[in-house]
Amino acid sequence: MSDADCLFCKIAAGAIPADIVKQGPDWVAFRDISPQAPTHVLIIPRQHIATLNDVGPEKADLLGGLFLAAKEIAAEEGIAESGYRTVFNCNAGAGQSVFHIHVHLLGGRDMGWPPG
Ligand code: 5GP
Ligand code: ZN
Repeated sequence: MSDADCLFCKIAAGAIPADIVKQGPDWVAFRDISPQAPTHVLIIPRQHIATLNDVGPEKADLLGGLFLAAKEIAAEEGIAESGYRTVFNCNAGAGQSVFHIHVHLLGGRDMGWPPG
């Protein structure tokens, strides 16, 4: 369920400190160490899954839970109405650098489109 060498598994287990924003039975949300917006929160499943490519239909509820958490946190951060972005990078070409799936929740500033 967890990977001994995975940074985000260690954060989920409390073995590495992080600025935890909110937790649920199946996920943990914490502030990104290198924020790209005034609000930049990462929402991760407690279960180790390397990339979105590794997810099957049995994980639909787990994935949905990450986005529902993002919605709740956006409201609590005061960015629900001004707008926010949820980003799921898959593999290195898209910018994934930590291979434990995570939703980026970004808001608090205007954002361009398309993303880089
Ligand atoms: P990715 O590039 O995989 O989509 O996103 C990984 C994110 O994890 C990056 O935005 C990076 O700043 C963040 N990150 C990397 N190491 C740490 C850490 O030790 N603590 C926290 N809170 N965030 C981290
Ligand atoms: Zn992991």
